[in-house]
Amino acid sequence: MHDWAGTRERLDALAVPCRDCNAAAGEPCVVRDGKGRIEKPLEAFPAHTHRMNDARKAPESRPAATDAGETPAAGVNQSTRDESDEMKGGQ
Ligand SMILES: [Zn+2]
Repeated sequence: MHDWAGTRERLDALAVPCRDCNAAAGEPCVVRDGKGRIEKPLEAFPAHTHRMNDARKAPESRPAATDAGETPAAGVNQSTRDESDEMKGGQ
């Protein structure tokens, strides 16, 4: 029996809700019976496969990637501000 508490996989998965067992964001996955009642916490995996896939796609679950991409962001901010100035002056 695994204890997934504190693992990276578990923490990442908790950032999004689970569509397999309907666990809300921040709540661990559970095993449900045929009537939707909770039988036990999910122990075979950190979370359901769909949830881990969803977590990988969610931008807020990847803080490490933000650090690597900070250099190009300055140019993006610059052009965005220019566009909003243009909109204000257009009246
Ligand atoms: Zn689940």
